[in-house]
Amino acid sequence: MLKRLFLIALLFCPAAAWALYKPMRVLAPQLVAGVSCTTETICIDDTTRYGEAERLYNDALRFVSSSVASIEKRPRVVFCSTETCFQSFGFTKSAANTVGVVGIIISPRAWNQYYLRHEMIHHVQAERLGVYKQWRSPNWFKEGMAYSLSEDPRPILVDPMQQYRARFEEWYQSVGKERLWEEAKNL
Ligand SMILES: [Zn+2]
Repeated sequence: MLKRLFLIALLFCPAAAWALYKPMRVLAPQLVAGVSCTTETICIDDTTRYGEAERLYNDALRFVSSSVASIEKRPRVVFCSTETCFQSFGFTKSAANTVGVVGIIISPRAWNQYYLRHEMIHHVQAERLGVYKQWRSPNWFKEGMAYSLSEDPRPILVDPMQQYRARFEEWYQSVGKERLWEEAKNL
């Protein structure tokens, strides 16, 4: 219902869509108060932290490209250093979010390597499987893969993530890296 409302709003009144479905703001983050896009791919609300954001971005991109899968189009990442900035995109509880292939929003709690890698893995999933298929794929695959292949150092994750990671790792061992995307399409 909400989605239909959003589509109608997008057709007839883009401004209403903007207000109704906040994650779409990642399309034009510079319109969110205090956020500026320093480059095509890095937007930030505290420009004094640009160097740190750029390092995190490049390291995560290198890691994911070499150990998970090549990235077709580099994702835009919005680095929020305040919760207010993060909430402007409609998020509260999570530490970070990936909106299809549109972009990634990082909360002040997620400025670290494995969070960035985790979200970039979601971006790759959406590129490889398509946004709809990725959205419909089982959580144990989506989240399990992101926690596992990002090399998240936490030995115990909050449930159900712990089970998702274990289930993904078992599945991944049986399908292998070569057949990962082909098999993922059948899930
Ligand atoms: Zn995730």
